[in-house]
Amino acid sequence: MLSIWEKLLFVIFVGASLSLSVKNFGLMIKAISRGAEPIDWQKALKKWPQGLWVFFSQRTLFTTRPVAGFIHALVAWGFTLYMLVNLIDILEGMIPGFHFFPEHYIGFVYRLFVDIFTVLVLLGVLYFLVRRFIFHSPLLKINPQVLIAESTQAGIRRDSAIVAFFILFHVGFRLVHASFAVALHREGFDISQPAAATLALAWSGMGDTGLTIGLHLGWWLALGLILAFIPYFPYSKHAHLFMGPIKHMVKAERRSPAVLKPIDMENEELEQYGVAKLEHLPQEEIFDAYACIMCNRCQDACPAYTTGKALSPSALEINKRYYLNENLKTFAESGESAEPMRQWAISEDAIWACTSCGYCVEVCPVANEPMVDILQLRQDLTLMESNLPQEAVGLFKKLESNGNPWGISQQDRDKWADGLDVPRFVDKPDAEYLFWVGCAGAYDDKGIKSSKAMVNILNAAGVSYAILGNEEKCTGDSARRLGNEYLFQMMAMENVETLNGYNVKKIITQCPHCLNTIKNEYPDFDGNYEVYSHTDFIYKLIVEGKISIDQASLGKMTYHDSCYLGRHNKIYDSPRALMQAIGGKENFVELSRHHDKGYCCGAGGGRMWLEETIGEKINNERSKDIAACNADILGVACPFCQTMLVDGINAAGLKTKVKDIAVIVSEKLRA
Ligand code: SF4
Ligand code: SF4
Repeated sequence: MLSIWEKLLFVIFVGASLSLSVKNFGLMIKAISRGAEPIDWQKALKKWPQGLWVFFSQRTLFTTRPVAGFIHALVAWGFTLYMLVNLIDILEGMIPGFHFFPEHYIGFVYRLFVDIFTVLVLLGVLYFLVRRFIFHSPLLKINPQVLIAESTQAGIRRDSAIVAFFILFHVGFRLVHASFAVALHREGFDISQPAAATLALAWSGMGDTGLTIGLHLGWWLALGLILAFIPYFPYSKHAHLFMGPIKHMVKAERRSPAVLKPIDMENEELEQYGVAKLEHLPQEEIFDAYACIMCNRCQDACPAYTTGKALSPSALEINKRYYLNENLKTFAESGESAEPMRQWAISEDAIWACTSCGYCVEVCPVANEPMVDILQLRQDLTLMESNLPQEAVGLFKKLESNGNPWGISQQDRDKWADGLDVPRFVDKPDAEYLFWVGCAGAYDDKGIKSSKAMVNILNAAGVSYAILGNEEKCTGDSARRLGNEYLFQMMAMENVETLNGYNVKKIITQCPHCLNTIKNEYPDFDGNYEVYSHTDFIYKLIVEGKISIDQASLGKMTYHDSCYLGRHNKIYDSPRALMQAIGGKENFVELSRHHDKGYCCGAGGGRMWLEETIGEKINNERSKDIAACNADILGVACPFCQTMLVDGINAAGLKTKVKDIAVIVSEKLRA
């Protein structure tokens, strides 16, 4: 179809576009490779079915914002189809007389399919343009207190417009091309291309020369735009189309979302602990910047952001991306960035505001992990800069000298069990289970109530168990989450030594933070155990008939999902089942934000021990859900949640009683 000169020109354009693209893609790949820990590409490539499934199904977009997610999927599917369409158009343009799909039903289906998707893609892109530029959707905005430069915000708007108009014009010109083809070569209304045939009616008065010029113009504009866009691809947010599904493949396997790779504290050659600059991030987390859709789903979910703190997980990813865009060549070639990330990616206030609730990780459609960046940024502030909140300094001292965050004597750790029938491991080394009491369970009044309830249940069930008593120490969860990897490792190794010394195999915990640390982090320190949450264990005892409970009226009941039990360890069912077994299914109602979409209490990530002075208190925000639910009993399965929610409920003047699941069960234990 093309003349020899057109073909020549097209080959020259393809050559120019390819050489620019190779250069720009090369810079992008080099920039990612400047990260600290390499991506395991062998492992990643084995996950190709997962990547393909995410790419073709677009399923990760539907879990939140189903309407926008579906329309985004339509555009993505249409754009993918258009890659094939472009290839066919090129072949048909370059090879005289070549028709990829001959004139039978396959050709009919192909033309119909392309025609329908053309319209869907155009409508989808128009929807996104209207949503962003006319309705200024609040979901796409970032509050001014978050560290994000005005130039970056302008960059997002510009890039969104470029991508949208590129798709609009590329697909639009292809439709124009098809319409001229219909006008030139088809008799009557071509039902295999209703949209192109409708547009062709507009050219009905034109002669063959005009139609041929239109045909060539449509071809050139549609394909010329693609050639112009490909080199821009690594700079555009459109890169997420491929980088998103690939991120699902390269994502490191963690036992739970907040588990960090241990720092080799013995390595004297190590010059940097944690992350200060972009190049200190693992490659996978630099990759996140390219995978990011800039959809703000993580920001919407973030309890720190939604209560007015300076933290936006999406702003962190977007800042990384625009920093890379602006410094791509220098960073890719030197491997060094000029300023620390806290100057341009995320403020110090924001770094300390994170509760490590894991919601940003859970909700991200491209498997990004902003929380992991934040926890590593804390390591730098704590270990390299000694620049941390005063309350954290006090906490570390108490952990170091007393082995617990309350700073009460280690010798008093098992005082709560005075007068109770609670065996110690030292006296009962053949016990099948270790009941890990935890610091709250040993020192905090509400926690002690739960410990006593657990003992009541374990004794009633005849479980062979023992506690460590004064040999137990804090797991180090808060120290690790607050960036003190050194202290965490010290505490972890001490506890593992004690546990392995008693040859402990099975552990029951009543604190999700202890559960998470012992189950998911101690294996890195040679501590491998079967770890149960108390809710799962109690439920198991009931199912096995080892204990039975009386049904009783508890009034209207609800349950608050602890982030470290739910999102971090996927334990959602047993607490609900236990409450419903006692108080009746019909009396159980869910909080508006629950299960994997549960809202944090504000205590995770070591925030339990820090003042919350910016914005609204997260526990007060959570209490609004509790007020709306108007339940008589709020079940909890975490001592930190219990403390935070009792405070929130009291501040709101609610009558809801907060009870640990173990206490609820223990009170209704059949004798
Ligand atoms: S882990 Fe939670 S608090 Fe931290 S950034 Fe993510 S959503 Fe926000
Ligand atoms: S990190 Fe994920 S959820 Fe957050 S803006 Fe980027 S793509 Fe959306």
